[in-house]
Amino acid sequence: MRRGKVVIERERCKGCYLCVAHCPFGVLAADTAMNGAGVYPSTVKNPEKCTACAACHRMCPDTALTVYELEEGES
Ligand code: SF4
Ligand code: SF4
Repeated sequence: MRRGKVVIERERCKGCYLCVAHCPFGVLAADTAMNGAGVYPSTVKNPEKCTACAACHRMCPDTALTVYELEEGES
C-alpha cells in the first residue's frame, strides 16, 4: 500500500475541516490547540493510515496542507 505524509500549516488553516471530512481513512482531525488566529486547525491524528491520495489537498480552499509520498521505510 502506498504511504503518505501530510504537513499542515497550522497558521494558514481556517478550521473548515473539509480535509477532515474528505479523508477516506480518518487520518485528520481537529486539533485541541488553537492557532494564532483563534482557530482549531486540522491536525494529523492517524499518520500511519495516510495513503497519499491527496483528497485533503484538493479540498483545502487555502492550500494549507501538503501531501508527500513516502518511500519504503520512510516515516
Ligand atoms: S492524503 Fe489522503 S489519506 Fe492522506 S490525509 Fe490526505 S486525504 Fe487522508
Ligand atoms: S481544508 Fe484546509 S483550511 Fe480547511 S481545515 Fe483542512 S487544512 Fe484547514
